[in-house]
Amino acid sequence: MAKADRAAGTKGGGLPAETGQGWEYAPAPESRDVVSIKPEYGLFVAGEFRPAAGGSTFDTINPATEEPLARVAAASAADVDAAVAAAREAYEQVWAPMPGSERAKYLYRIARQLQERSREFAVLESLDNGKPIKESRDVDVPLAAAHFFYYAGWADKLEYAGFGPAPRPLGVAGQVIPWNFPLLMAAWKLAPALAAGNTCVLKPAETTPLTALLLAEVCEQAGLPPGVVNVVTGAGDTGATLVAHAGVDKVAFTGSTEVGKEIARAVAGTDKKLTLELGGKAANIVFDDAPVEQAVEGIVNGIFFNQGHVCCAGSRLLVQESVADHVVERLQRRLATLRLGDPLDKNTDIGAINSGQQLAKITELTKAGEAAGAQRWSPPCTLPERGYWFPPTIFTGVSQSHRIAREEIFGPVLSVLTFRTPDEAVTKANNTPYGLSAGIWTEKGSRILWMAQQLRAGVVWANTYNRFDPASPFGGYQESGFGREGGRHGLAAYLNV
Ligand code: NDP
Repeated sequence: MAKADRAAGTKGGGLPAETGQGWEYAPAPESRDVVSIKPEYGLFVAGEFRPAAGGSTFDTINPATEEPLARVAAASAADVDAAVAAAREAYEQVWAPMPGSERAKYLYRIARQLQERSREFAVLESLDNGKPIKESRDVDVPLAAAHFFYYAGWADKLEYAGFGPAPRPLGVAGQVIPWNFPLLMAAWKLAPALAAGNTCVLKPAETTPLTALLLAEVCEQAGLPPGVVNVVTGAGDTGATLVAHAGVDKVAFTGSTEVGKEIARAVAGTDKKLTLELGGKAANIVFDDAPVEQAVEGIVNGIFFNQGHVCCAGSRLLVQESVADHVVERLQRRLATLRLGDPLDKNTDIGAINSGQQLAKITELTKAGEAAGAQRWSPPCTLPERGYWFPPTIFTGVSQSHRIAREEIFGPVLSVLTFRTPDEAVTKANNTPYGLSAGIWTEKGSRILWMAQQLRAGVVWANTYNRFDPASPFGGYQESGFGREGGRHGLAAYLNV
C-alpha cells in the first residue's frame, strides 16, 4: 500500500469531524472463538480429508492482519485424478441412479446445517476473505443456504422443469470458483449440479479455501455418499488440471475474463459442457428524476459492497449532467460516514482487500486514472497499518477512453461519467466489452422498461442494486461469459438438454 493512500484524517472507523458529529462507534467485535480453525487442512476426496499426494501445502492468511490462518494441502495432478475418479464412481454407483426425492433430502440437510452453523461460517469467511462480518452474516451465508434449499426443491421435479420428460445429468462437474464470495460461489456451483444428479470436484481460490473445506465437513455431517462432492484446494494450476481432465463432463468457472478465455481454449474441441461467469464493468445510471438519497444508497451498495470485489459491481456511475454535481456532493457526504476497519467488527462497512496482489492491481489502476487526468477523491480515513486496505475512492472527470472506465478494477473505486439524454446513457453504458449487469435510477416506469431493453447486460436492476435470489437467473453477455446460474435456467447447465 502506497503511504500516500493512507490519507490523513480521523481515526479509522470514526465519523469524520466534517460531518459535524463528534462521536464514534464503540467497537462491536464478533467473537472469533465461534470457529475453531485447524492448523492444517487436507483435500476432501472420496468422503475423507487427506493430505496431497506430494505432501505440498500453502498458507492461507487473514488479509486484515496478514496473520497465517492455516496450512492447506495443494492438490497435485494425482490428487485431481483421484478426486475425479471418486466423483465418477459416486456418479455411476450412487448419485445418478438415486431418485430425485432422495437427493433432495441431502440438499435440505446441507441447507439446514449451513443455517445452524451460520455464525461459524460467517466468522470464518470474514477471517479468510477480509469482508465485513455484517455482509458474510447477512448476505453470503443466508444466500448460500437459500441456494441449497431452492435446488433441493427442484431435485424431484426435473421432468417438470420444461426440459423434456426425462432430462439426464451430465456426469462429473469440475467447478472452479474465485475468492470474492467463496462460500456463496461454492453453493451456486454445487447446489444445482447435485440437484440435477451430477457429482462434483470443486476447486476454491487459493486465498480463500477455508469455508469450502468447512462446507465439505457439512457434506460429511449430512451423510452425503463419499465422492459426490470433492474439494481440491490449490493454486491456478490445480484449476487448470481439473478443467482439462478427460474424466470431467462439465466445466463451470467463475473468475476473471482472462482465465475464462484460457479455460474456453482448454475445453474447445472436447465434448465438455461449459459455463463461464466472468468480469464486468457495469453502468449504474442515475436520471435527473431519481430520488437522490435512494440513488446514493444504491451507488454505495453497487460499488462499495464487498470492497467492490463483485463481478456485477456498479463501477461506472453514469449520472445525468444536470444533477451530476448534486449527486456527487451527496455521495461524498455519504462516503464520509462509511466505517473502514476490522472485518469482524459489526459496525464495519468496508473490510480488507483480499490479497496483496489485488491491492497492487487496484493501486496500479487508480494511478492510471490520475495520470489520465481524472480527479481522485477519498473521504478522510486512516487505514490500519497491517493488512491490505484501500479507501473508498471516486474519480470524477472520467472519459470513456480511460482505463478506469474500461477495465475491471475489482476494488472500492467508482468512475463517474455524465450523460445528457437517455440515448447517450445507453450508448455509454453499452460501450464496454463486458455485459453482466446494469442499474437504472428513475421515477418513470416506461423509461426503466425502455432502458432495460436497450442495455446489453444479463441483469438489470431498477431503483435498486446487487439484489440476488436463488430463483433468479444470473449471467452475462460478451466478455462477461455465457450460461446462467440460479433459477430454472441454472439447472439447464447441468442437464443433458
Ligand atoms: P482468477 O480468474 O485467476 O481466479 C479464479 C479461479 O480460477 C481461482 O480458483 C484460481 O485459482 C483459478 N485459476 C487460475 N488460473 C486458472 C487456470 N489457468 N485454469 C483454471 N483455473 C484457474 O482470478 P484472480 O484471483 O487471479 O483475480 C484476478 C482478477 O480477476 C481480479 O483482479 C479481478 O479483476 C478478476 N476477478 C473477477 C472475478 C469475477 O467474478 N468477475 C472473480 C475473481 C477475480 P487461484 O486462486 O489459485 O489463482
